[in-house]
Amino acid sequence: MDDLYDEVETIDLENQRQRLQQDEQAILNDLQHLQDAMRTSEVDIDLEEGDPQIAEREKYQALAANLKKRLRSVQRALAKFDHGVYGICERCGRPIAPARLLAKPDATLCIKCQAEVERLERRGIHYRPPTNFMSAFDIRGDEEV
Ligand SMILES: [Zn+2]
Repeated sequence: MDDLYDEVETIDLENQRQRLQQDEQAILNDLQHLQDAMRTSEVDIDLEEGDPQIAEREKYQALAANLKKRLRSVQRALAKFDHGVYGICERCGRPIAPARLLAKPDATLCIKCQAEVERLERRGIHYRPPTNFMSAFDIRGDEEV
């Protein structure tokens, strides 16, 4: 038994993967709708300041930014499946608690690291996920996206 995976295997990985894929699809749909809505609201070029359409557009942009952030997170979790490291914290390399994964299938950090990252962020230090998160596990040479 590989003890790194002991805990992770107590959850239904295939089910988690399906949830993530459904999430990804739902987010992509939402983004599509949002982009359509933004396009139709772009007809007016000369908007006066204080025009409700400006606030509307800013709202769309904030929503879109949020969705893109979630999408990145979900796709990252899906990529971890492809590399066989789903459910492993990408900061410390330890398993993420199954309860956490069930509540948040796209969690990429264990609860300890998440708390640490949030503590640092409050002090203005931003956590950057490793660009190649596999480097945390010394798995290399995988270029496919
Ligand atoms: Zn961790």
